[in-house]
Amino acid sequence: MCILEDMNTFDFRHAALNRTVSVEGNLKHALRELAEIEKIIREYPHIKHYIVTHHSLTADGETLSADNIYDNHRKKGYVDVGYDWIIEQIEHSAQVIVGRPMHMKGAHCPQKKMNDIGFGICWVGNFNTAPPPDMLWRAGVKHYTDLCRTFNIPPTNILGHRDCNNDRTCPGDKFDMDRLINDVTKNLIKEV
Ligand SMILES: [Zn+2]
Repeated sequence: MCILEDMNTFDFRHAALNRTVSVEGNLKHALRELAEIEKIIREYPHIKHYIVTHHSLTADGETLSADNIYDNHRKKGYVDVGYDWIIEQIEHSAQVIVGRPMHMKGAHCPQKKMNDIGFGICWVGNFNTAPPPDMLWRAGVKHYTDLCRTFNIPPTNILGHRDCNNDRTCPGDKFDMDRLINDVTKNLIKEV
């Protein structure tokens, strides 16, 4: 039911966001458009239009790190893990683990209202030291492609946490956001 509602209302929101971007030098108009977006966010808080990429900053072990992330977030007082999905390599397979139900507001990036309008995805690993391994990368690209297709998210709306918060390097200095956007774009083009 929720998904259907998402899809039915999505174009309206998309159009409103695009209109705001196209407004130049007309502050009043821009503010009115912004108010419209705020209203849509209030009415449809579960509609997400961006994907925000994070890393866990921990080395990925053979055990399920997603459980640890979940426990940490619960200890901080969150109602659920803050991310919508966690991607991690467990032994010889990469898995996409469901986190917070996607109709709920997230708890991963308050900047630019991304908890409201962006899915939060945590890749397990510390990518300040090395890029994600191939298997993890392929699973991530596939999941991002599915999300872009299902929710009509343009790949240019795939962000790193650092794009929203200048104080952070998340998802890591060695995590190539341009490559991620390119790989997802290529997949989407292949599917047309
Ligand atoms: Zn982050």
